[in-house]
Amino acid sequence: MRAEAVIDLAALRGNVRALRARTGSAGVMSVVKADAYGHGAVPCALAALDAGATWLGTATPEEALALRAAGITPDRARVLCWLWTPAGPWAQAVAADLDISVSGEWALRHVLDAVRATGRPARIHLKADTGLGRNGAQPHDWPDLVAAARAAEAEGLLTVAGLWSHFACADEPGHPANAAQLTAFRQALVVAEAAGLRPEVRHLANSPATLLMPETHFDLVRAGLAQYGLSPVPEVGGPEEFGLRPVMTLQAGLAQVKRVPGGHGVSYGHSYVTQGETTLALVPMGYADGIPRHASGRGPLWLGGKWRTVAGRVAMDQFVVDLGGDPAEVGDLAVLFGPGDRGEPTAEDWARATGTISYEIVTRIGARVPRRYL
Ligand code: PLP
Repeated sequence: MRAEAVIDLAALRGNVRALRARTGSAGVMSVVKADAYGHGAVPCALAALDAGATWLGTATPEEALALRAAGITPDRARVLCWLWTPAGPWAQAVAADLDISVSGEWALRHVLDAVRATGRPARIHLKADTGLGRNGAQPHDWPDLVAAARAAEAEGLLTVAGLWSHFACADEPGHPANAAQLTAFRQALVVAEAAGLRPEVRHLANSPATLLMPETHFDLVRAGLAQYGLSPVPEVGGPEEFGLRPVMTLQAGLAQVKRVPGGHGVSYGHSYVTQGETTLALVPMGYADGIPRHASGRGPLWLGGKWRTVAGRVAMDQFVVDLGGDPAEVGDLAVLFGPGDRGEPTAEDWARATGTISYEIVTRIGARVPRRYL
């Protein structure tokens, strides 16, 4: 084994159960976009469904179609996909019985074309922009979008299955935008209901809102990061405080171990130079595997029962660790991150060390790293 990401599906199932325990009568949508944040979309989707999630969510329609192609049929899970462009696979999505997010009348036109092309009714979720400023209809466009969707529904062309929106600042509890978005969402619901829409699900909450704002749960929460066992609000609490356990462990076998004299430059640019005679260990992972180059001289790892730091630059396929006088052998396991209970760093430690968020650390682990499922 050069390197691997070990994916603990039992932990994922436990996380989904922990989320369900918080949401009461609201269902859980397992967000498996971006290959389940790097964890593997199909195995994670199936594990989440086993643990009681009832919906799956993806960004792109291609990601959603891949779930259907893997055998996740509509009776097993509704799948919502929300990031559309005019060139998207509208007809395939209707044929595959996906739930399509509609953010404007342009998207509704594409849905209706697909309904005509396939001869099948569509299922859509109207998205309101309640303050994030990304996709979703602005309040001044919402009544017209609602009316157009309701008219199409009355003709039997589609079902408005959902009304939804997305938070901008849910990871900052107490941020005034949260209350403002909740109010705006409630107003959008009132407009839609007054126009005669009776959706199956109204949904707003992402992981931080699921954990910290029960008043935002409505009928369904969309949980991404939390189901992978990482805290979306590390300043408020780590995973254990929310009953979550990190799912991914990233590790590699050492590719070389050798003694070098003092004054030896290490990796490109010689940004690290050995202080005295020492042992260098070579970890066969690099930025092609998703290890941030910004981890050069900063990234933590667990090797030989100790916390170590990347020495010198992270290269495309490898980086070096200075072990000082400690023994090691080729093939010894270096754990870059995991749940943290054996002393190893966590994805959150990597995020702190490299100035990013744990979302990015796990999501960027590249396709070259095999996933091994427990
Ligand atoms: N809903 C939407 C629309 C998203 O784009 C995302 C992810 O960014 C999520 C839900 C899940 O967010 P989180 O990982 O914070 O649960």
